[in-house]
Amino acid sequence: MRDFVTRFAPSPTGYLHLGHAYSALTAWQAAQEAGGRFLLRIEDIDTIRCKPEFEAAIYEDLAWLGLSWETPVRRQSEHFSGYSAAIDQLAGRGLIYRCFKTRKEILEDIGRAPHHPGESPEGVIYPGPAEPMSQEEEAGRIAAGEAFAWRLSMKAAAEAVGDLPRLTFTEEGEGPNGESGSCAIQPDLIGDVILARKDISTSYHLAVTMDDALQGVTHVIRGQDLFFATTVHRILQALLGLPVPVYRHHGLISGADGARFTKRDKSQTLRSMRESGARPEDIRLQLGFKW
Ligand code: GLU
Repeated sequence: MRDFVTRFAPSPTGYLHLGHAYSALTAWQAAQEAGGRFLLRIEDIDTIRCKPEFEAAIYEDLAWLGLSWETPVRRQSEHFSGYSAAIDQLAGRGLIYRCFKTRKEILEDIGRAPHHPGESPEGVIYPGPAEPMSQEEEAGRIAAGEAFAWRLSMKAAAEAVGDLPRLTFTEEGEGPNGESGSCAIQPDLIGDVILARKDISTSYHLAVTMDDALQGVTHVIRGQDLFFATTVHRILQALLGLPVPVYRHHGLISGADGARFTKRDKSQTLRSMRESGARPEDIRLQLGFKW
C-alpha cells in the first residue's frame, strides 16, 4: 500500500471542542488503520486571534484524549516567507491581483453584476472587477500605503489551467450534498478569493494547500464545512504544480439541540468536560470510537 499520511490542523483561536475531537480522532484512527502517519499542524497565521495558551491547550487536550503525533509540529506562523514566495510567483504570472476595495465596495460591485453571483458556503462570491485597475492607479495607491488584498483571478486561473471544471479530486468521504468519488471542482461557488493581504502573506487557503503538499499529506481528513474550500485548494495545486491528495470530508458533530459546535460553545470544550469529570474513554465512546 502506498504511504498514508494524514493530519489534524487546528487553529489555536480557542479551546478544542467535541467537533475538533471528532476530526482529530477520525484522522488518527485512519492513520492507525492504514499503518500510516498522523501529523498535527498548528494553523496560526492569524497572529491576533491565535494565542499561545490555546496552542498549549491543543497539545494537552489531544494527549489527554489518547492521541500521539509526530514532532516537530509545523506551525504556520514560522513559515510566512515560504507563503510570500508563492504569492510573488503567482503575482509574477498575473494569476492574482491587488484589490483595494472595501467590503462595501465589493458588495456594490456584486450588486451591479449582470448575473447576481450571490453567496456560497465560502461567503460572498466576488466575480472580480469589471475592468482591471490601471497601472498608474495601482502604483498611486501602493505609494499612498493603502491596504489591499491579493485575490486569485478566476479568469486568469481558467486561462492558465484550461477549463477549470475539468479539475477533479477524489472524495472518499462525503460532501454536504452527498458528493463522493471523482468530484469536479465548482469554481462558480468561489469567485476571486483572497489569498493574502498587504500585511499578512497568506490566507488559510494558500497555507493549507502548500503545507499539505510540503508535508507529503496523502489524505486530507476534515469536516464537511471545508468541502467547498477544496475547489480553491485544487486550483492552487494546479497552478503551483502540487500533488493532489485524496479527500475525506466527514459529517459535522452537533449537540443535543442539533446545533453545530462552535468555538463559542464553552460548555462543550474538552477542557470543561474534563473538569466536570469526563474521562477520555467517555468522550471517545460518545463520538463513536470504540477503543
Ligand atoms: N485550520 C482549519 C480549521 O481550524 C482546518 C484546516 C483543514 O483541515 O484543512 O478549521
